[in-house]
Amino acid sequence: MRKKIVAGNWKMNTTCPEGVELAKAVAAKSVEVPANVGLIVAPPATNLYCVAEAIKGSKVELSAQNCADHTSGAYTGEISAAMISSVGCQWTILGHSERRQYYGETDEKLVVKTKLALEAGLGVILCVGENLDEREAGKHFDVCTEQIKNVLYNFTAEDMKKIVIAYEPVWAIGTGKTATAEQAEEIHACIRKVIAEKFGQTVADDTTILYGGSCKPSNAKELFAQSDIDGGLIGGAALKADDFIQIALSF
Ligand code: PEP
Repeated sequence: MRKKIVAGNWKMNTTCPEGVELAKAVAAKSVEVPANVGLIVAPPATNLYCVAEAIKGSKVELSAQNCADHTSGAYTGEISAAMISSVGCQWTILGHSERRQYYGETDEKLVVKTKLALEAGLGVILCVGENLDEREAGKHFDVCTEQIKNVLYNFTAEDMKKIVIAYEPVWAIGTGKTATAEQAEEIHACIRKVIAEKFGQTVADDTTILYGGSCKPSNAKELFAQSDIDGGLIGGAALKADDFIQIALSF
């Protein structure tokens, strides 16, 4: 059976001491979360090492928010998948809409980054999702399908064991507007079908698909009750340990 996951994307928030405090609070409360629900935190890169120490011995796993599209060398400011792995990360988020929008992240680059992340032993949380114009033009199914095909169709069924998908409608991220449970479910079901078409139904059934976009304690239960929604990628609400854990208790 596929794994349920609640992952917190801290974005560009928390200094190192603040990150350690938040991570310790999440780790302490993580004992309340059932064994079948995975917890992941994704602090800024500067905090990965200290947060790794802070969550040691708990069930909380560690993720970066991005990785480089090269292995090493003259790429000032970049951080490779191997470096991320070496500080204790098990995961990296890739293709977040903020990176697609502000940093020129393309599907082509995401193929390279996903490959490098998998080679470094990292799991990948791949984000897809439509923007408001695309939603209003009724293109949301097509946009998500294309993003999935462009990136994941370059990988194998074996690779898919290490890949989690996050459906994050851009219009719902940090806006307070959440997709309704029905809107989210129909895209999740579509994504699962697109995965099944390439990798078969068993792989599709085993793939964890998270919802992200203003998910909070008050709406998580309804979202997670949908049959194709396997948890959440949480932004704002992940910055409060109580809210984050409350969300993880919403299955
Ligand atoms: C995100 O950025 O991944 C996200 C889902 O943000 P928020 O929960 O704040 O909308």
